[in-house]
Amino acid sequence: MSATVKTPSRVVMCPSCSTKNRVPAVAAGVPRCGNCQNPLPWVVDTSDADFAAVADKSTIPVLVDVWAPWCGPCRMVSPALEQLATELAGKLKLVKVNADEAPAVSRRFEVQAIPTLVLLNHGQTIVKQVGAAPIPALRSWLTDHLPPHEAESAQEDDSSTRSVGP
Ligand SMILES: [Zn+2]
Repeated sequence: MSATVKTPSRVVMCPSCSTKNRVPAVAAGVPRCGNCQNPLPWVVDTSDADFAAVADKSTIPVLVDVWAPWCGPCRMVSPALEQLATELAGKLKLVKVNADEAPAVSRRFEVQAIPTLVLLNHGQTIVKQVGAAPIPALRSWLTDHLPPHEAESAQEDDSSTRSVGP
């Protein structure tokens, strides 16, 4: 019995300059283009084994797409989600979970029907939606619920240099 080993990275074409970049499933901060430094779309396939590392530990909000290969509406909503991940590059990580291979993730989010979409921030559920929707509806659902964008610079703990008070 051999476990399926998922590719830990995928090659993504930079939407700004068309350079091909290898984007890892897990990284500190957000992946950026090696050529133009713009944030890259971040789309990761995962399952129970590495969900915590890929989704819960992400420093940017995560959209979890619980889907299955036999689910027609899932196949319709998938390209829309990937497009939104491109539009929201640097602000959102799209994490796709095959429900058949991820019983623990399915239980955790009480998945009754698919697709189920869950927006997570630092491992906390912000909002959940069941069923496919057209891309404009998905876009406004996401932008309505995305937490305010945290400082894009990597210096998160640089509070000592911030001026305090009046
Ligand atoms: Zn680029």
